[in-house]
Amino acid sequence: MSIPQQPGPTPVTSPGGSRPASGPRDVLGAAAQPPGLGAFDEHHPPSAELVADCVHCGFCLPTCPTYVLWGEEMDSPRGRIYLMKQGLEGEPLTDSMVTHYDRCLGCMSCVTACPSGVQYDRLIEATRQQVERRHRRSPRERALRAAIFALFPYRRRLRLLRGPLRAYQATGLPRLVRRSGLLRRLAPTLATVESLAPRLGRAARPPQRVAAVGTRRAVVGMLTGCVQDAFFPEVNAATARVLAAEGCEVVILPDRQGCCGALSVHNGREEEARRFARRMVDTFAAAGIDYFVVNAAGCGSTLKEYGDLLRDDPRYAALAADFAGRVRDLSEVLVELGPVATRHPLPVTVAYHDACHLAHAQGVRAQPRRLLRDIPGLVLREIADPEICCGSAGIWNLLHPGPAAELGDRKARTVLATGAGLLVTANPGCLMQVAASVTRAGGDIALAHTAQVLDASIRGRGAEELLHHRTPS
Ligand code: SF4
Ligand code: SF4
Repeated sequence: MSIPQQPGPTPVTSPGGSRPASGPRDVLGAAAQPPGLGAFDEHHPPSAELVADCVHCGFCLPTCPTYVLWGEEMDSPRGRIYLMKQGLEGEPLTDSMVTHYDRCLGCMSCVTACPSGVQYDRLIEATRQQVERRHRRSPRERALRAAIFALFPYRRRLRLLRGPLRAYQATGLPRLVRRSGLLRRLAPTLATVESLAPRLGRAARPPQRVAAVGTRRAVVGMLTGCVQDAFFPEVNAATARVLAAEGCEVVILPDRQGCCGALSVHNGREEEARRFARRMVDTFAAAGIDYFVVNAAGCGSTLKEYGDLLRDDPRYAALAADFAGRVRDLSEVLVELGPVATRHPLPVTVAYHDACHLAHAQGVRAQPRRLLRDIPGLVLREIADPEICCGSAGIWNLLHPGPAAELGDRKARTVLATGAGLLVTANPGCLMQVAASVTRAGGDIALAHTAQVLDASIRGRGAEELLHHRTPS
């Protein structure tokens, strides 16, 4: 992926590319809301100052997955910022504008790429909240989103799916369903869910607490998550073991913690996100934790922003800011504490995939690599174009299954080109997306979370167990 050497200002065109830049509106969209209101209301609209920081240089364009896919200005960060500017200047919130905002994966690759420090993350978050409040989606869209949000943020509901899913996976049906292509033609979202579901094994309930091994160096809370808890309980178990081995007392309280609110935040569901955040803060308020450790990138970036999310709540603003200050990705806390547990050799070649919400949203790139490189015998390989999202992006792959599969296919090609035997990443969504894409590409690679690799090394289990977790066939 090359960055333009001298990217001069590029004229901004409308979504279709043919209308003048001043008028990306359409009849349907213009009629979608009462006249005279403008695109945004006064409750935290995207900041005009932050919008003005964009100097239209275009450095962000080659790193934006939707611009890479379609080459369309309005599906680039610069184009979306331009649409926000139009909204702030009084343009109504049209269907067309909403489409371009919706197509944004929220991967924040543009935030990393931008030399002017434009805070696109804050801009798109504010915009999405406005869209959810002020835009009426089609009945089909509303039904799909309602179904997604009635399921994914609720761990117990997800856990109920485990039994039927395991039974289905035990038959020859999955292979048949995928080969026939029928489900993808009839119900692409359901087909995407079916192809993403990891192979499920037995799941033990997480304990309330795990004692530190040896001298206690810290008390840490640990997020169990929703998808992580239901579909990757072995990642949570490995995380707790690694933390304990490094001298942490781990406070889990699995029956009291719920969703962190990440999916809701990333989709503009402000009130719902706040509800989840308050519950999380309450759960760990009296636990006396030094850190709150997260092993899912998308959740971590939201938990670190709790202070901002609850800034208008006089009861919770200070508590949430304090909580957010303790949040660390697993790799951050392990590097911060320094290792005490012995690492046993792990002769395996690893390709490390940067989850967008870890690398771009939290700036955590060096720590997981350092932890992996410190394992004797482990060889680390880099994946080409690491800044381009794999297409998972929370629920984006469910809302946009076609383009998500295209991005997944690109990622699968670069992952397989490393020749590594094990793909490691720190986000359940990425694990599922890349696994499905590698399978579609006819490839085969073992998959693991960083925590599982560290756990295998600390326990001296060798590479066998890790290499057992293959992509689904
Ligand atoms: S967040 Fe990702 S998809 Fe959205 S504009 Fe930025 S680079 Fe593009
Ligand atoms: S967001 Fe940043 S990189 Fe992209 S066009 Fe604006 S100033 Fe340039």
